[in-house]
Amino acid sequence: MDVRRRMAPPPAVGAPHRKAAGAPRALQAGDALPLPIRHTNLIFSALFAVSLAYLMRRWRAKIRSSIPFHVVSLTEILATFVLVASLIYLLSFFGIAFVQSIVSSTDEDDDFLVASSSSSSSAKAPAPAPAPPAQCGLLGSADAVSEKMPEEDEEIVAGVVAGKIPSYVLETKLGDCRRAAGLRREALRRITGRQIEGLPLDGFDYASILGQCCELPVGYVQLPVGIAGPLLLDGQRFYVPMATTEGCLVASTNRGCKAIAESGGASSVVLRDAMTRAPVARFPTARQAAQLKAFLEDPANFDTLSVVFNRSSRFGRLQTVQCAMAGRNIYMRFSCSTGDAMGMNMISKGVQNVLDYLQDDFPDMDVISISGNFCSDKKSAAVNWIEGRGKSVVCEAVIKEEIVRKVLKTNVQSLVELNVIKNLAGSAVAGALGGFNAHASNIVSAIFIATGQDPAQNVESSQCITMLEAINDGRDLHISVTMPSIEVGTVGGGTQLASQSACLDLLGVKGANRESPGTNARILATVVAGGVLAGELSLLSALAAGQLVKSHMKYNRSSRDMSKAASLSLTP
Ligand code: ADP
Repeated sequence: MDVRRRMAPPPAVGAPHRKAAGAPRALQAGDALPLPIRHTNLIFSALFAVSLAYLMRRWRAKIRSSIPFHVVSLTEILATFVLVASLIYLLSFFGIAFVQSIVSSTDEDDDFLVASSSSSSSAKAPAPAPAPPAQCGLLGSADAVSEKMPEEDEEIVAGVVAGKIPSYVLETKLGDCRRAAGLRREALRRITGRQIEGLPLDGFDYASILGQCCELPVGYVQLPVGIAGPLLLDGQRFYVPMATTEGCLVASTNRGCKAIAESGGASSVVLRDAMTRAPVARFPTARQAAQLKAFLEDPANFDTLSVVFNRSSRFGRLQTVQCAMAGRNIYMRFSCSTGDAMGMNMISKGVQNVLDYLQDDFPDMDVISISGNFCSDKKSAAVNWIEGRGKSVVCEAVIKEEIVRKVLKTNVQSLVELNVIKNLAGSAVAGALGGFNAHASNIVSAIFIATGQDPAQNVESSQCITMLEAINDGRDLHISVTMPSIEVGTVGGGTQLASQSACLDLLGVKGANRESPGTNARILATVVAGGVLAGELSLLSALAAGQLVKSHMKYNRSSRDMSKAASLSLTP
């Protein structure tokens, strides 16, 4: 049967089976003719009926006139062929897998059978889908597992499926992280009946995440990384990696970088560098809680506290302790420098040392939690906005009038006015908490993901006030972003994974800074602020010039070349 291709309709949300992005779509019976499926079905039904009626008539005629059956005319051969072809089409269309397998067995791209068998029987192990050689390692590997699984692996998978072997022990039991992930994935496929083919298994170092980044792995999500830059910041050129799936974001930030670079660059200042952790403790009375507050905030006790706190790390150095109370509960907000680490583990250890020490002098203290939310981690909170958390950074630039016109396609006055009405007044109307900006979190999240930061800390790290002023008699533009809570590190957590580490390396801030611990993390924080500065500049310009909707229509909803999108913008 001559099976021709046509454009696939968009897949339904939650469809049970999807090929990896970029992989050819599976052939289906409805692809037989380049017509709407309804018409194709009608044609094949008609062919089937006509050929069947014709052959039946010929059969009757042969019986009546005693003509042997094996004597066949050309028309009869043709009618038989049409009958068989239309029968195969109709059966395959209505999902009879056996027939479909005959139709598709010679087509290496076709995984229709896998789809239909898995959706029809969730308990059954799915048939292996053939994959092109280049993809075998990534997409076909799970199928390979089910196809050629050794007996021992088969037993382990069966044990996990039956609930006899806990999935989380596989790494320890097998001593092979890749194999553990593969078997867990196979068990998951059997339990759910879902193929998860688009989620690659191979091509990732599972040992690198063991015990620190992710538990119970079954694969990894792929994200594109784009580069904005060079970002000329403090006299250095940075090529800023951004992991995102939001069209126009990198292009827009890139345009902002261009405007900054052509105006002589941006400069930054780190106002404060301190991670915070605030345990909560309860006392029998508020008076006793207040005594601890007075003790912790008394400068005379700071040296003792810092000796105790600093014992746990070479890099964690206590800076301040600030307390708040709610009835007889006391919230002790410890701040400390953390070198090149983002510092949550480090500070938690130091805080625990201090709590253990305090217990002797304050025996009635009942520690409720090492974190009492006055820290405040991964929540929108005024304490971070006012006091800062992580790195507090201001980044500024003067954009020349000519660049505003040529690169940003707007003018200084419109930008200043827009910033007041949107980022300041508009956010005030909305009751924003640290949200006096156009889209700081877009840039923060993209850089965080690319460089292995904790994406959940985007909540406070994106707090930002964007200020725009006309200077030099109204000709040029002064733009600044003030970000009090950028929480980043270049050691620990996800920063040591291969891809994330490569992105840090690109920025020249990979790992620990040996000469001056903390410098790498501070530079990274300034790059985040610089990226936000570029993003704010470009988006506000697009809004001022009324380009936003136009650019989205042009680039965000089509598959066209993005190379010309540098002058465009994205969703604020
Ligand atoms: P976090 O506190 O951000 O969760 P980790 O505790 O996972 O980070 O990682 C910090 C680890 O890295 C600590 O064990 C620390 O001793 C070590 N380390 C090595 N060099 C540095 C450095 N320059 N700055 C901070 N930590 C460093």
